[in-house]
Amino acid sequence: MSWQQRFRQALDQRRAADGWRQRRIVDEQTTRTLHSGGRCYHHFSSNDYLGLTRHPAVIAAWQQGAALTGAGAGASGHVTGYHRQHADLEAQLADWLGYERALLFISGFAANQAVIHLLGEKNDRILADKLSHASLLDAASHSPAQLRRFSHNAPESLAARLASPCEGETLVVTEGIFSMDGDSAPLAALAQQTRQAGGWLLVDDAHGIGVVGEQGRGSCWQQGVRPELQVITFGKAFGVSGAALLCDADTAD
Ligand SMILES: *Cc1c(COP(=O)(O)O)cnc(C)c1O
Repeated sequence: MSWQQRFRQALDQRRAADGWRQRRIVDEQTTRTLHSGGRCYHHFSSNDYLGLTRHPAVIAAWQQGAALTGAGAGASGHVTGYHRQHADLEAQLADWLGYERALLFISGFAANQAVIHLLGEKNDRILADKLSHASLLDAASHSPAQLRRFSHNAPESLAARLASPCEGETLVVTEGIFSMDGDSAPLAALAQQTRQAGGWLLVDDAHGIGVVGEQGRGSCWQQGVRPELQVITFGKAFGVSGAALLCDADTAD
């Protein structure tokens, strides 16, 4: 079978199963309305929670930044693409959220891949809430560490997982506010159990940062919990794109 034949067969199967997804062209949108296919809809499908993608100050800052430093970094951060502005933003984020260091990434997906790839070694285990974002579960399933899921927002299910012995280190993974249902993780209980077992907690707060907690500092701040690792993204409430990992200095280095 050729590549062409393989794709055609796969597409036919998808269509037959009513599982073929087509991207829809959006002609125009605001926080409340969406124009597509000649119709105007009420818009309940956006992550632009605060409407910042269209805020004049955000747009002006973006334009000023491009004029000042160029539209791109010009190189990988490991070569000559790590600019003063990146370092300043990292320092501000770390200070704002109470961590030693912040590390910028091009996207939340990249941040999750990097941190889970970095941490998981053979004999370690990753215990993830079973409704965690695909970027977390996907990275964990490719890790040499063993992936186990615990029941959604259920500290007792995590406790049962933690009770079974593990030779290596334990990383517990959850979201702050879950993307699909908008419910919040019981972070204090999860953090306490994780710490008791000598593990580390990673909270992906893509949907909490900018939205909840004092000054929008997110779910962890709101619940008075400081996980060892926190991933925040800029593509939801912040209205732009990118992400950061908040962590200690050794982890960042
Ligand atoms: C959107 C999202 C990401 C990915 O962020 P991108 O910057 O779009 O790659 C990661 N985790 C969660 C929970 C998300 O909702």
